Amino acid sequence: NAKSKEESIEAVVQEYEKFSKVNTSTLSSFTDMPLSKATLEGLADSGYEQPTEIQAASLPFSLTGSDLVGAAKTGSGKTLALVIPLLECLWREKWSSEYGLGALVISPTRELALQTFNTLNSVGRHHKFSCALLIGGTDVEFERKRLGSVNILICTPGRLLQHMDENEQLNCDSLLMLIIDEADRILDMGFKKQINAIISNLPTTRQTLLFSATQTKDVNELSRVCSPNAVFVSVHENS
Ligand code: ADP
Ligand code: MG
Repeated sequence: NAKSKEESIEAVVQEYEKFSKVNTSTLSSFTDMPLSKATLEGLADSGYEQPTEIQAASLPFSLTGSDLVGAAKTGSGKTLALVIPLLECLWREKWSSEYGLGALVISPTRELALQTFNTLNSVGRHHKFSCALLIGGTDVEFERKRLGSVNILICTPGRLLQHMDENEQLNCDSLLMLIIDEADRILDMGFKKQINAIISNLPTTRQTLLFSATQTKDVNELSRVCSPNAVFVSVHENS
């Protein structure tokens, strides 16, 4: 019921201050983190028990509302590092279909977008958010009609811009969180102009997370999409 739901959100959020200062090397299990019951169960059901290094290093900031630039090599678990704070952000706000779009994830390719979509649906199985993929190669008309009630969008830059230009169903005004995944690849693929155009359509009061496999000059330049107080977390291969 509504009252106990509110109390459980409050109890989790009360842990945030301590968590934001935690010694990340001591985080050996997701159950040590202040997470909703729905997310903890989704993680367990999906077979995730221990956070990887980038997850342990970034979640104390991303979960507690900071903007973050995270760099760690391919295969280090950056997808969960973005899926968890996304789910928790909408959960804290008691987001539901009538609130519209709450979170946007931009991926460089259809394949990576689909992988993120699958991880989000697996870990988020006990939450009730609606999630859609906008990746091209599918029927634009079909996508168009559903967009008005979607809470989470995972998309490639070109297809998102197409909808931003043509589709009045897509309303980003209440967006809470923007996530740019595999930012180095997005820039390598020449999407810088598209990303800038997308950002100009988004509210400025939002949380922004940017993940990348490498910390190139271009990625550092793109990190201006985050607030000036953004936290930079980088996990190196031999650390
Ligand atoms: P990246 O985006 O950094 O390249 P992914 O998010 O695609 O990495 O994760 C790589 C692999 O690691 C995936 O198969 C994923 O299921 C697995 N993985 C991620 N986090 C964990 C974890 N905490 N425990 C076990 N396996 C994990
Ligand atoms: Mg990835």
